[in-house]
Amino acid sequence: MLIDLHCHTLPLSQCSSLRPEELVDLARERGLDGICLTEHDALWEEQERTELARRTGFLVLGGVELTTDMGHVLAFGLSSGSATFASAGSAFAAAQTAGGLLYLAHPARDGLLRVSHETVEYFESVEAVNGSDTRLQNLAATGLAHGFRLPGIGGSDAHTATEVGRAATRFAVPVADEASLVAALRSGQYEAVHLRD
Ligand SMILES: [Zn+2]
Ligand SMILES: [Zn+2]
Repeated sequence: MLIDLHCHTLPLSQCSSLRPEELVDLARERGLDGICLTEHDALWEEQERTELARRTGFLVLGGVELTTDMGHVLAFGLSSGSATFASAGSAFAAAQTAGGLLYLAHPARDGLLRVSHETVEYFESVEAVNGSDTRLQNLAATGLAHGFRLPGIGGSDAHTATEVGRAATRFAVPVADEASLVAALRSGQYEAVHLRD
């Protein structure tokens, strides 16, 4: 199943022009099976997210895009508690406690591959395909993902309607909620896919 693991909506991500219902409608129209809301440094209230999923009849998962000293970090399985971390190290400690996973987002966007001993320790992998990045940046990110424990993930990083559905993660195992998302990621049975320009 195809799930976009990187999406931004209003009002939690003020840089986005997408309303949550609009995002869901477009995702469905463009052939996705689910989305994961990854607002900047903010988690959706579980009740509101569940309500959106119920209202739209669509799979709506929760994650977060953290701003850290090592760049943007996509976190899954950190459904409660703080979504603000001063460092990637403290986000890693929180992920360890919560049983969550961290992926370095758009690692080649700044024209600089961020790789160090800590990078490989803190992150399960990187975002190998980001719908808002160039082909060359995604090629570099895909190459980088080979150095990690798990495959790279894919997501649109959608902030506008046209960006929805450009990239996603194709899972070979079923995902129905946050627990099964974390389990599916941990199993490594997925691949990042570029869907359209
Ligand atoms: Zn980002
Ligand atoms: Zn983003």
